[in-house]
Amino acid sequence: MDVKELKAQLEYKNKNVFDIISEDELERSFAYAEAYKLFLDNAKTEREAVKYAIAMVEKKGYTEYRFGDELQVGGTYYYNNRGKMLIVFKVGENDIEKDGAYIVAAHIDSPRIDLKQNPLYEADGFGMFKTHYYGGVKKYQWTTVPLALHGVMVKRDGEVVDICIGEDEEDPIFYISDLLPHLAKDQMTKTLAEGITGEGLNIIVGTEPYRDEETDGAIRLNLLRILNEKYGITEEDFISAELTAVPALKARDIGLDRSLIGGYGHDDRVCAYPAITALLDNPDTKKTVFAILADKEEVGSDGVTGMQSLAFTDILEEVCDALGANYRKVKANSKCLSADVNAAFDPNFPEVLERKNACYANCGVVLSKFTGARGKSGTSDATSEFTAYVRNMLNEAGVEWQMAELGKVDQGGGGTVAKFIANHNIDTLDVGVPVISMHAPYEAISKLDLYMTYKAFAAFVK
Ligand code: MN
Ligand code: MN
Repeated sequence: MDVKELKAQLEYKNKNVFDIISEDELERSFAYAEAYKLFLDNAKTEREAVKYAIAMVEKKGYTEYRFGDELQVGGTYYYNNRGKMLIVFKVGENDIEKDGAYIVAAHIDSPRIDLKQNPLYEADGFGMFKTHYYGGVKKYQWTTVPLALHGVMVKRDGEVVDICIGEDEEDPIFYISDLLPHLAKDQMTKTLAEGITGEGLNIIVGTEPYRDEETDGAIRLNLLRILNEKYGITEEDFISAELTAVPALKARDIGLDRSLIGGYGHDDRVCAYPAITALLDNPDTKKTVFAILADKEEVGSDGVTGMQSLAFTDILEEVCDALGANYRKVKANSKCLSADVNAAFDPNFPEVLERKNACYANCGVVLSKFTGARGKSGTSDATSEFTAYVRNMLNEAGVEWQMAELGKVDQGGGGTVAKFIANHNIDTLDVGVPVISMHAPYEAISKLDLYMTYKAFAAFVK
């Protein structure tokens, strides 16, 4: 055997999908990316993602499930958890005790700048919002970026007022200022972590005073007047509001060849969208499949709508009851792909990644046997057996994949929802898309990686 043959037979190497993909499939991946971009633009918060996904699944005949409802073999359902977490599922014909459930779990919350509960103040001729950032952000990145205000305000009587200002071309936007370089002598000597502080991320909301008012606070009053006219709200309604500032930017192709997509919140909508479409595109009725779109991943997956809530396992238990199956046996035989992003190798920052165990844009969906930090702390670490099962499944389905850790051993790390599902005695492996500039206001991903991730989920639920 010559060396070339031997190498091909024995060595494991990442492949660039562009080198091997057919023209047909390349076209399909780019078409899939267009639909994904629409999702990105219309689902910038978890609430919007849930609404958009419900419209998608209802179109395919999925019906709303509420606890206590009857479940049937062959039935297709969704559970809307408080408008912020969505569990879409299909009850299959297979013996669920033997086959288990097939779960793809992604998250739909992204790092952003939330408003404080008492946000509105006036200072030096400006009406401003106090903010409290959400998730792991590099604060300096969020200044001088056009921002849109999204969210809900719930009035005392329970009426929900949807807010979305800054997405329409005609809308005004919001803005966090930064210091001009001419006067930044002191700021420039600070670290990136200290240059812009959490309490310094204040949003400019307006400058025009209420003209009949002679006392202080006329700008603030005028802003309250505008909000009241437009939405019928008063300042106390902020107390029960979830308002967030996100980049007022649309998803766009990056590069002359249009091979990448820039957008806000790829983490983790780039996995949520394939999770839903893989389930909807599959007409099979054999497997019991769940696509979970969880909230609160960026802050630890706690709370009623996070992956640590019992919402998912409660539904699984209801399915087991309906089928007369042993819940514990079903969990032990279930399998989960924890669908989340990884850090793509970035030529601008090669020093933080270890080349042999990093993921690369255009090399396909990325598997991570474990996540965590330092000595693998905070990870579920998939078994070798389950990792082999997934790799074999992807190979058989012709899905291009790569294996990676998130960064060098002592460089940092991160976690996903994987461990919270694995804790239920369910085999779980991290699978997702490599991202450039993760958690920045505008992140980048590869269209081919997005498509391979879709194909991976499609193979898993088939
Ligand atoms: Mn994520
Ligand atoms: Mn994240």
